[in-house]
Amino acid sequence: MLLSSYRSPCYTAVMFWTEEFTEQIKERFHKKIADDSPLIIRDEKTLSGRVHVGSLRGIVLHGIIAQVLAEQHVKSIFMYELNDNDPMDGLPINIDQEKFAPHMGKPLFAVPPVHEGEDNFTTGFGEELKLAVNPMGLPIEWYHLRPLYLAGKFNEVIREALDGAARIREIYQEVSGGGKPDDWFPLNVICPRCGKIGTTKVTAWDGNEVTYECKKHYVKWAEGCGHKGTMSPFDGNATLPWKPEWAAKWKVLGVDIEGGGKDHYAAGGSREVAAKISEEIFHYPAPFDVAYEFFNFQGKKMSASKGLGASAKEVADLLPPKILKFLMIRKEPRQPIDFDPEGKTIPNLFDEYDRCADHYFNRHAEPFVGYARPFALAQIDPLKEPEDLWEMRFQSLSFVVQMPHLDIETEAEKLKGKALTEAEKIALHERASYVKKWIDTLAPAEYKFVIQDTTPDGLDLNDKQKKALHELGKRLGDLKEWSGETVHDKIHRTKEEFELTPKEIFQPLYRIFINRTSGPQVGWFLSTLDQQKVADMLIASSS
Ligand SMILES: [Zn+2]
Repeated sequence: MLLSSYRSPCYTAVMFWTEEFTEQIKERFHKKIADDSPLIIRDEKTLSGRVHVGSLRGIVLHGIIAQVLAEQHVKSIFMYELNDNDPMDGLPINIDQEKFAPHMGKPLFAVPPVHEGEDNFTTGFGEELKLAVNPMGLPIEWYHLRPLYLAGKFNEVIREALDGAARIREIYQEVSGGGKPDDWFPLNVICPRCGKIGTTKVTAWDGNEVTYECKKHYVKWAEGCGHKGTMSPFDGNATLPWKPEWAAKWKVLGVDIEGGGKDHYAAGGSREVAAKISEEIFHYPAPFDVAYEFFNFQGKKMSASKGLGASAKEVADLLPPKILKFLMIRKEPRQPIDFDPEGKTIPNLFDEYDRCADHYFNRHAEPFVGYARPFALAQIDPLKEPEDLWEMRFQSLSFVVQMPHLDIETEAEKLKGKALTEAEKIALHERASYVKKWIDTLAPAEYKFVIQDTTPDGLDLNDKQKKALHELGKRLGDLKEWSGETVHDKIHRTKEEFELTPKEIFQPLYRIFINRTSGPQVGWFLSTLDQQKVADMLIASSS
């Protein structure tokens, strides 16, 4: 069964955002779809350094649209560009500044590799991005830009841009208010003498060749060599500047669907300029658009102290691929995603995933498509029905991985109430490895559990609480069977008998044993400790 056939008729009619987009896409491209031509979806990243985690939002957003279209039997190809053609206009930190500074202004493909054995400067960054993205199972065709220029695929749009230079200058002026001088042409040639592209200025176009100059002080970040001449702008000799180039790529690749990050969508911003150039100069309709909000990574302060940066790969390593995918699609594109690896983001994300699983598998009384759908879409193999697995909650697991005397599978079976299936064991150990990594490196103090040996300071109990905890201590000490259920049962009965609110009894229990105000499921948690110790500490704390 495909995931598109929802499991239950009791979902509300509300669509998840992915379907809202695919409905509009199918309406706009109905002719192309009827002809059985694949829709072209595109996104890109310039490989000028390690790729920031924020780029994953665009990749997953475009990829999930392709995935949903496939479910609906609409063919599409998601082409992701690893841009190796832009000029090097800045140096990432962590690379040898002295070695790479002389290459500033060259196209990235012409800059030497960071590590031996790689093709060029961009290779390692592209491969690392693939390692972060590929485990999510999205249908992606990776491509490089440079070979398209070399093969002459951009020749026609370069000619159109040069012929339309005056109109492109006007479009800049009309749309963004930032005009270009009358002698500006929308092209950068690669200087045949120094190899730089960021420093050259085209000053004339005669229909066959451009006149150019490699200017010493054209840009702040690179120095030109002063060479002047004329040359053909075709077959990889030159590239378009980025706004006309964005539009040109739509035409060259036949792009139907391409969104962009919020920063491109200010009034008069790059998207508007590109759309106008696409329509007026290249006579190509601007693609179906999805503007998406930022991915806010709140971990800058930690990069120095804990060695975790904000790269896509480093963040991908913190999460199972399906949870990473879930993170990127759970919110609709117009909402920002806030991610703080040192805060509660990661535990909350696992909880949210489990909650959505409850909706998908109808374990929730009123299953809601807005929760069930992102769970289904986040699965790695979209053609495989997800298996209904029992999973240990993040908080319980974070407790178990910190208690050397506890066995993960044994505790999981206690919590589940019966034996785990093989698939559940695999899922449990996978999740445990991510939880442990997080606890060991990034987790805030409130997730670190230390079993107390004496009553913590400042335990402020009223008389009713004291009497109840004293009685509970005696009852737990007398228990014949020491298990999560029997402990839970005694706590519950004592709470009722002494007319305590849940908070009045649970908070002191967490305070006494782990000096926190909350923690894992309390009956099970106490049952993992020594029975006599629990009884003694309760009596001592309430005396
Ligand atoms: Zn030069």
